[in-house]
Amino acid sequence: MSYSNIKKKLESGQVVILDGALGAELEKVGAPMDKNLWVGKCSNDRPDLVLKVHEKYIEAGADVITTNTYALAPISMKEHGYQDNITNWNIKSVEIAKAAAKNSKSEVIVAGSISTYGSWYRLGQDTLKKNFEEHLKILGDTGIDLIILEAMTSEVDTVKTLINCSKKVNLPTWLSVSCAFDEETNKVMLGYQESIGNTKAEIYEDFDKAIKQFSSLHDGPILIAHSDIKIINDAIKIIKNNHKGFIGTYPNNGYFEKPHWKSIEGFTPENYLNEAKSWVKNGSQIIGGCCGVGPDLIKPLSKLKQ
Ligand SMILES: [Zn+2]
Repeated sequence: MSYSNIKKKLESGQVVILDGALGAELEKVGAPMDKNLWVGKCSNDRPDLVLKVHEKYIEAGADVITTNTYALAPISMKEHGYQDNITNWNIKSVEIAKAAAKNSKSEVIVAGSISTYGSWYRLGQDTLKKNFEEHLKILGDTGIDLIILEAMTSEVDTVKTLINCSKKVNLPTWLSVSCAFDEETNKVMLGYQESIGNTKAEIYEDFDKAIKQFSSLHDGPILIAHSDIKIINDAIKIIKNNHKGFIGTYPNNGYFEKPHWKSIEGFTPENYLNEAKSWVKNGSQIIGGCCGVGPDLIKPLSKLKQ
């Protein structure tokens, strides 16, 4: 399937299935996590397992799979002494995802993940800009089908810098951001909450105001990622009021109990499908999963296509 087929599906009101978490799933199948590059190094160390996880998501019905490049940002790789592997490991990650898509009986496309992973915003927007441009150039040259700007957990300025950098790459672009609930004002905010009930949410800006700004720069789909399931429907409504492009959702299931992700006990694939039905009803057409959402929860989502 080419991106034009995905676009046709979205335009005719159909649902498109995105994959789930790569990191947690790779850990599950025994891939070693790197203390600096987290899941990123797996593309070099255990390409077989990365392939296996992509294939699991394809088997579960994903139309779009995401490259294991979220944690392979040039800025991060340089910081940890992997500067000579930046291009090579990113290309490897794309090749693994492409191989999985090619082996598949169904039509699957590959999204190149660019992230704001790490606390690099302290270095300023100019430094971030160079990093995003370098990463986008590498991935843009690999023949991926689309770019997904995984700006989740980032504040407004960083998201805007990322969007602006993406304009130099001539590929369809999706943007994902995260949101959190501000208990003081009872508002949905751009921000994130790693541990529900344990830590205070990181709150940046009214989600409403943030989406207005992003929408003025980006007309592609906006997705809500790495956010609590409970907040998704309110967030979809805010995007719908402020953005003409398509809407997507790939929330978390659970929370961090560092260093591991803890899924909500007793949360079933059927529970996830029921939540997803409400997102579709409210206008979300791209549905996948973030932390704690594995192939078991992605699998029933195909029912949303009927
Ligand atoms: Zn997540």
